[in-house]
Amino acid sequence: MKKILWRLLRWGAGLLGLIVVLLVLRGVYAFRDRVHGYQLDLKVDAAKSKATPRPLRIGFGRVNINPDLSNPQKPVWLAGFSHHRAATAIHDDLWAIACVLDDGYTRVGVVGLDAIGFFHDDAVAVRRACAAEWKLDYTIVCSMHNHTTPDLMGLWGKDVLHSGVDPDYRKQVIAAATKSLGDAVAALQPARVAFHEIPTPPDGLVADTRKPIVFDPDIRVMHFTNPTNGATIGSLVGWGNHPETPWAKNTEITADFCGYLRDALENGITQDGKTFIPGVGGIHLYINGAVGGLMTTHPSVTVRDPVSNQDLKEPSHEKTRAVGRQLALRVLPKLADKNSPASEFAPISLRARTIEMPIANKLFLAAGFLGLIDRGHVHWRTMRTEVALLTFGDASIACVPGEIYPEIVNGGIERAPGGDFDIEPLEVPPLRELMPGKIKFVFGLANDELGYIIPKSEWDEKPPHLYGSKGVYGEVNSCGPDTARLLHTALKDFCQENKAGGAPK
Ligand SMILES: [Zn+2]
Repeated sequence: MKKILWRLLRWGAGLLGLIVVLLVLRGVYAFRDRVHGYQLDLKVDAAKSKATPRPLRIGFGRVNINPDLSNPQKPVWLAGFSHHRAATAIHDDLWAIACVLDDGYTRVGVVGLDAIGFFHDDAVAVRRACAAEWKLDYTIVCSMHNHTTPDLMGLWGKDVLHSGVDPDYRKQVIAAATKSLGDAVAALQPARVAFHEIPTPPDGLVADTRKPIVFDPDIRVMHFTNPTNGATIGSLVGWGNHPETPWAKNTEITADFCGYLRDALENGITQDGKTFIPGVGGIHLYINGAVGGLMTTHPSVTVRDPVSNQDLKEPSHEKTRAVGRQLALRVLPKLADKNSPASEFAPISLRARTIEMPIANKLFLAAGFLGLIDRGHVHWRTMRTEVALLTFGDASIACVPGEIYPEIVNGGIERAPGGDFDIEPLEVPPLRELMPGKIKFVFGLANDELGYIIPKSEWDEKPPHLYGSKGVYGEVNSCGPDTARLLHTALKDFCQENKAGGAPK
């Protein structure tokens, strides 16, 4: 009897040991570094470009990234709301759109993807796929964070335990982003740039669904024109809102307001063959900014269509189009104005750096372990990400690898009552106060999607909850309470370096 017990115990211990070994091996495999040793520390000074300016050149490229819906055996899982939301049709096209900026010394490529998220490993894959002869010194790939596009993050498959990412589609998007950059390089031509900052009250466009109520409401534009005839080459438009206007029940793929805006800038605001405001031609790139905290055209927001003057509240493609038209209505007069001050010179400076981001969120770790979130870790519970600060003529661009709360950008962080830490705001001064230049762009989801970037003094998981509420949404999709401070510090350092006159100038 004793012998049998002893044997069973040994068997049990052996089995337990085997399970532990298998779990460790699974962990090692799931969290393996996908871009081993990747480390970026880029400094490009604008001093030479400022001292001996060379004419600005600009190029655009765009490549379609519609998924293949023809195989009923292989559903395309839509991201952003719930599991098991299969795409039923393509309502309007998805694109990878690139704009390449070249001041004669430095060449930077910016890509906007009609996609939910693109991890740092994917952004590096694009970088590595670019041909050396394209001479790109830096690339920035930004997702729109669009909630009606194929899952590229792994969180919205057929159920909680299955990733919704189709590896072939991910390859398609990486290839398309790369090709859009190559096309943009091939299209480089002399250009002038005009910068615009368009005050845009959020009413009737976007709601803030989490206190404190702080927006990043204004639209910022880089407009590129032909120096000889003034014709539009294209534009880069920045604003901050979740592209999720058609909401959770919609299963028809759409580029959301980003697509309607781009189309209206190019082809005008039109309906039934009638043109209400003419377009300016060219290729237009939209880049999302501070979408955290949480900026959305919520179903409670009523949007007025400027063509029909109809008020649209129920989520629909019509309401989505109305958001795009409302934005285009504000941007088009600026693009049409031939008297805007524009320059043929826009020196580029650049500072970009790899950051190691600790992961406190156990759900993120579990999702990684299960293979839902497919991205590498540099070490245990630490992911590699990247921040950047560029200056471009009179403008500057802060590249933020996720969904930043607008109060970190514009100010208004609170020592929020009910917060878990009860501390004074750490992520101060606000980024726009620190950033150089006159027009200050924030590119969100730039070269990564880390999830929400939440001020530590507003972090709230434990009761009592913020402002006496029953609980808040955001923390579940964030790396942790120190994410914002780490990113803010890195960008603050870049801004101070810039101010001190070191690299970049
Ligand atoms: Zn989001």
